[in-house]
Amino acid sequence: MAGAPGTATQTAPELLEQPPAPRAPLAAEVDLFGESEAIQVNHCRMPGCGNFGVPARTEHGKTGPSADRDPNYVVTGTNKGTIPALRCKSCGEKPAMKSNAGVAAEFRRISAAMLRPDEAAACTNPECGNRGRSVAAHPGGYRKQGRSASGGQRMLCRACGRRFVLSSPVRLGASARAAAADAFSRIANKSPVRCLVRGARLPSAQRYYQTLDFIFRRCREFSGRVDRALADGRLRLPESVNVAVDCQTYTLNWICRLDRRNTEIQSICTVDADSQFVLGLHSNHDPAAAAPRPSPPPRTRQGSGR
Ligand SMILES: [Zn+2]
Ligand SMILES: [Zn+2]
Repeated sequence: MAGAPGTATQTAPELLEQPPAPRAPLAAEVDLFGESEAIQVNHCRMPGCGNFGVPARTEHGKTGPSADRDPNYVVTGTNKGTIPALRCKSCGEKPAMKSNAGVAAEFRRISAAMLRPDEAAACTNPECGNRGRSVAAHPGGYRKQGRSASGGQRMLCRACGRRFVLSSPVRLGASARAAAADAFSRIANKSPVRCLVRGARLPSAQRYYQTLDFIFRRCREFSGRVDRALADGRLRLPESVNVAVDCQTYTLNWICRLDRRNTEIQSICTVDADSQFVLGLHSNHDPAAAAPRPSPPPRTRQGSGR
């Protein structure tokens, strides 16, 4: 207990110097194909309310009754009191507060398939000033340097000298392409893995997963091109579209015997009900954020008395 007052006197000035946390999460910027857009999702979400889409104030007002207060929202907690929320003064709705930075990161992840190779590629050297600055947005930072063996454009970072290749679409030989088309048709018809390997005459189960990865990349590339054309205005939807939205939860088996918790993945699917064209299917699975696998417990010496 003797050390507690000393600790308090050391940390108190530091705490006083820190700027107060914002009242509601600050807006986050996203780059929408060269145009910057601010994301602020902390507003009333009741479509019929006058405050719908009106953002909450992020700076604190004076305490007590004053004309300086946010005229639209009160900062409160959700019904369980565990999550900070807003209460709309107009309709009483209590939307939970969300991190705009998190929404922006998710937007970047989902829209990555829409980017051209030069928009997606950037220097990956963590100590380089060009890190994360794409070739398309900062052409002066890079130089073309011939082609790779697979025909992709090789680029050189002018700041640190690192070389990388602008990824070109994945290609397969004619026979592998035919096998992939056969496998894709069988997957769409819910064929079990072993039946598919036998039926499509794949040489091994390993080839099945390679083919599956290839199909995934080509589907993502195609869907990204359609999304980009819709965003650019090159492809236009009919004037009236009958859109159906559904949310699914996929419960997956555990992936490791040391951690037997089931994994749940949520996805939202949006379909044009007339043509049955899937406008989007987005899951909350981020492959870059995979949890580290637990290490096995140390082996104990058992059965030595036998
Ligand atoms: Zn409201
Ligand atoms: Zn670099």
